[in-house]
Amino acid sequence: MTETALPRVRADIDLAALRANVRTLRAHAPGAAFMAVVKADGYGHGMVPCARAAVEAGATWVGTATPEEALALRAAGIGGRVMCWLWTPGSPWREAVEADIDVSVSRVDALGEVVAAARAAGRRARVQLKADTGLGRNGCMPEDWPELVAAALRAEADGAVRVTGLWSHFACADEPGHPSIAAQLDAFKEMVGRAEDAGLRPEVRHIANSPAALTLPETHFDLVRPGIAMYGVSPSPEVGTPADFGLRPVMTVTAALAHVKRAPAGHGVSYGHRYTTPGETTLGLVPAGYGDGIPRHASGTGPVLVGGKWRTAAGTIAMDQFVVDLGGDEPEVGSEAVLFGPGDRGEPTAEDWARAAGTIAYEIVTRIGARVPRIYSNERSD
Ligand SMILES: *Cc1c(COP(=O)(O)O)cnc(C)c1O
Repeated sequence: MTETALPRVRADIDLAALRANVRTLRAHAPGAAFMAVVKADGYGHGMVPCARAAVEAGATWVGTATPEEALALRAAGIGGRVMCWLWTPGSPWREAVEADIDVSVSRVDALGEVVAAARAAGRRARVQLKADTGLGRNGCMPEDWPELVAAALRAEADGAVRVTGLWSHFACADEPGHPSIAAQLDAFKEMVGRAEDAGLRPEVRHIANSPAALTLPETHFDLVRPGIAMYGVSPSPEVGTPADFGLRPVMTVTAALAHVKRAPAGHGVSYGHRYTTPGETTLGLVPAGYGDGIPRHASGTGPVLVGGKWRTAAGTIAMDQFVVDLGGDEPEVGSEAVLFGPGDRGEPTAEDWARAAGTIAYEIVTRIGARVPRIYSNERSD
């Protein structure tokens, strides 16, 4: 092998595409601030490089799920506003307050932990109150909202916190016309109105994820929080393709064929012999498997571009490898196999793998594993 040989498998991350996607999304929501959501290692793309690129392209907020993720952004030198929203008792509240992170609370007792952390840190905590407007996941239920708002007002009066935001999250924004969208929007306006009538003066009110940012301008309020669309991946086939919105996929996953060989008709392939060669053919070995995040559910269906042709995972996707039937073609060992990318070389996309695996494209990119090196291009601003 020469030094220029392709690595076994790699994920190329095009940061120019990410910056362009941020600009495109900002144009879809011109009146709103932009929070770049980079949780789960930037949906598998690498949290810190993606956060930096998004900030360069005009994101004034960066959002994560966990406080550990938010603290890692600060440790990497990400300034500006950083918000996180998924806490458990004993989470590093004080570190988050000291790092000037906006923390979200959905319960009075969680607010109490933030107040204690603010006192310990000797500074006001930035707090955002999360409303459950119908997602039924995190968030404060409408009947508990007045109590949470009152507690937040008291904590503000005591100098312990500043309530910077009121916010919520959609259940079905990726299903155009779903009746829950209007119902959640009404509930959000109602809950924001109650909080403001009680005296809260938040900087930002926000509810829009990617599909809402792209298709529901009435949901933009003061800030939009796109994740998946920033990575150039569509929230759902019903919403449209990335190209419909001028978005470009950021991640390309390629592997170098590890073996190419002739096989006779009737040869069983991979675990369980779920594929048998229909005639004399050639088999190519793709050295990537579920240990790299390639979904085993795409056994027999996952598409790969080899030598300009779409091939399909023949039989079971194993931990480290799977096989494609090359139909008699004999590419050199080491030739490129493109699992997914933007699609403009004719390769499959993350959406194609989602369909093949019976899942959503979010999961395809996010689950690309730690064993796959991320190789960044266009790190410098254009
Ligand atoms: C993940 C997440 C987002 C981003 O959602 P996308 O559908 O990827 O745009 C926004 N807000 C919250 C609370 C989230 O958890």
